[in-house]
Amino acid sequence: MKSYLAPSALLPGGWVNDVTIVIDDAGRIERVASGAGDAGAPRDAERLPGPVIPGMPNLHSHAFQRAVAGRTGIASPDRDDSFWTWRQAMYAFVDRVDPDALEAIAAQAYVEMAKAGYTSVAEFHYVHHDPKGTAYADPAELAWRIVAAAGSAGIALTLLPVFYAHAGFGGAAIVDAQRRFVHSTYTYSRLLDVLAAGAPARGYTLGIAPHSLRAVTAEELDRILRLAGTGTPIHIHAAEQTREVDDCCAWSGMRPVEWLLANAGVDARWCLVHATHMTAREVGALAASGAIAGLAPTTEADLGDGTFPGEAYLQAAGRFGIGSDSNAIIDPFAELRQLEWSQRLRLRRRNVLVDPSQPSIGTSLWRAAAAGGAQALAQHTGSLAAGAYADLLVLDPDEPALAGQATGRTLDAAIFGPCRRPVRDVMSRGRWIVREGRHPREAEVLQRYRAAVARIDALA
Ligand SMILES: [Zn+2]
Repeated sequence: MKSYLAPSALLPGGWVNDVTIVIDDAGRIERVASGAGDAGAPRDAERLPGPVIPGMPNLHSHAFQRAVAGRTGIASPDRDDSFWTWRQAMYAFVDRVDPDALEAIAAQAYVEMAKAGYTSVAEFHYVHHDPKGTAYADPAELAWRIVAAAGSAGIALTLLPVFYAHAGFGGAAIVDAQRRFVHSTYTYSRLLDVLAAGAPARGYTLGIAPHSLRAVTAEELDRILRLAGTGTPIHIHAAEQTREVDDCCAWSGMRPVEWLLANAGVDARWCLVHATHMTAREVGALAASGAIAGLAPTTEADLGDGTFPGEAYLQAAGRFGIGSDSNAIIDPFAELRQLEWSQRLRLRRRNVLVDPSQPSIGTSLWRAAAAGGAQALAQHTGSLAAGAYADLLVLDPDEPALAGQATGRTLDAAIFGPCRRPVRDVMSRGRWIVREGRHPREAEVLQRYRAAVARIDALA
């Protein structure tokens, strides 16, 4: 048991000054006492130097893509760069990633996540086989590398092994560049069995992830969904690109989100990643389903995907979380800034996604994304409340953007002020994984990352 005294903290009911947080030996919050001052804190309570907020769950990551970041900025001669040309470059890279490299790159991505304020991550894990497309001797080889990488960084993991079987709608045959991703429903169910057996000892949460309606037939989706239990998170990419929407309409007469809502039993277990292109009817129906919209605002901006209909979705009481997705940017503050700014640019108004129950845009965004992320990861996290995992951030009181800000404006300043490094200390499941901005393994992890990327480049 350990006790901390925070000068201020974002609790479920809002910002409070002088907060005592008691954490049990299992890494869960046992008790939060608000407004009590020093008198209410246990005598051995450690005094935290800055404002405390819930750690952010990262609901969508492809860790290996961290090493693709910064490598797709050279314009093609015919100036037709798009999501689809980016995907070609990403496929060419992943062809050369071996298990050691995958683990090294993922560890680098996860350490960066921890330092930025993500305390847990949902890894949408679709590279399963060796570079020839053959299953490894242990078919879960690359999944274990993801688990090991999350362990190196100390962040909690929801592992989402991906089912990927086709190159396009209606069961189109896979293309060669996708050979490392492919499973049959049988081999996929075997993989899930192995990963379910490993979960209790290794401490990850297991979900399922049909890649997209492009990659899965209706019959396969039906079979895959039967593998999900009542509490199993189910993640799928949907409606990221207008071409995908057009192809889905040509195949089924319905749009991707519309088709899923009509045919897949979408409920609170689900996370529809992106859900960028929706009609007003889809917006209302997705919100009513209780599912999470899994937004990746900086990736969606980087890839030119489009703008999520955020205002209408929140007005319909829709739930959302955020993910670093391609890992070109790893920063929950930047994701929320981009999300809100995308709405402002489209609507030419300010403070669009504010929660009517309280006026701070930064607080609104952080609380909603933390709660939605926790639901999507199926982890009891995302709020500083008794029973939840002790996943929390201490913001840096020496950060100039936070200087002189009233408590209730802390997150407005951290997200929308000139803040470069708002996070000072990070705790995941009761353990400090970052202190004073440093991760204890960052040098060693970076060294392995550099070596892995050099090895991959030598194969080009
Ligand atoms: Zn994705």
